[in-house]
Amino acid sequence: MPNSVLEGGCQCGAIRYQVSGSPLGAAFCHCSMCRKANAAPAVAWALYKEDQVRFLHERPTEYHSSTDAKRGFCPRCGTQISFVANYIPGLIDITIGSMDDPNAVPPTAHYWESKRLSWVHFADQLPRYVAFPPHEIS
Ligand SMILES: [Zn+2]
Ligand SMILES: [Zn+2]
Repeated sequence: MPNSVLEGGCQCGAIRYQVSGSPLGAAFCHCSMCRKANAAPAVAWALYKEDQVRFLHERPTEYHSSTDAKRGFCPRCGTQISFVANYIPGLIDITIGSMDDPNAVPPTAHYWESKRLSWVHFADQLPRYVAFPPHEIS
């Protein structure tokens, strides 16, 4: 889908965005920070260049979840929208779950397999990486 445009947003509609073209990657993250921020066992992310993502109304409110990273969310309804970090300059992760058609962006890997909850089992054959960046394959 090289020229496709996908739309998404938060639960209340205050945050709406468009993403253009294919993501650089899409993956589940099992890290404890994503888990806590999303209150979910694992989070599916699509990674884009910043210029592929356009926020149509307001931008997400950002929270410094660590010294290196900021998580963007809707201040009204709390939906997690985005993630940026010093170690991925110029790039922005978007939660696939906030997209209007999450089926359009299937994950192709699992990150932070080392932090995966013991009762979380995905029945896919995707590569599983111990951490992120994915230097090691589990
Ligand atoms: Zn909202
Ligand atoms: Zn994570």
